Amino acid sequence: MLDGMVGTWRSLLLAQAIGQIEAELDLAWARLLSDFDVAHGTADETALGWLVVDNPEEHDWRVVDAALDRLSCTECGVTLARGPATCRRCTYHHELRFAARETDRPNVPPGNEHAIRVSFAVARNRTRYSPRARVGYELLLPDLVAGFLPTTKQAQAAKALINKLTPEECDRVTTFDEVEALTRTRPAL
Ligand SMILES: [Zn+2]
Repeated sequence: MLDGMVGTWRSLLLAQAIGQIEAELDLAWARLLSDFDVAHGTADETALGWLVVDNPEEHDWRVVDAALDRLSCTECGVTLARGPATCRRCTYHHELRFAARETDRPNVPPGNEHAIRVSFAVARNRTRYSPRARVGYELLLPDLVAGFLPTTKQAQAAKALINKLTPEECDRVTTFDEVEALTRTRPAL
């Protein structure tokens, strides 16, 4: 399982899900450039990027996330919204991105797209979230991309198990089966 694709991700499945979404972001951005007749690699592209991240409510979240990926933060110098949690400009744009539009793909439960965008944002902004806050999103993302959405009851059951993990275990587990195996005999907190 540990091939080059895993990289910084907790599992190959997560790496593949992130890779698939990033490819979709690239496509969404290419379409926007084409719609606005803007050439790749130009100052116009950067200007369009700022226009998009400053007005996320006018665009699909994939376009907004793609724009963030193409801009550098004017305060910390890192890719916009990916800087340290202490960078106010990155934090501002990270929060503002959630105003972007989300449209469920065909044949998925309502809310699937919202779950994907939140999980994707959490997984790619690890320094902003604790291991316990991240693990559920990161374990779920591959299933969300496949079109699944847990019921509230399922999500609460998963959360109850995750709450029995140590922070180190939260970062180490690669599947919900592992979470279950680790926590089966532990008392509820
Ligand atoms: Zn920053």
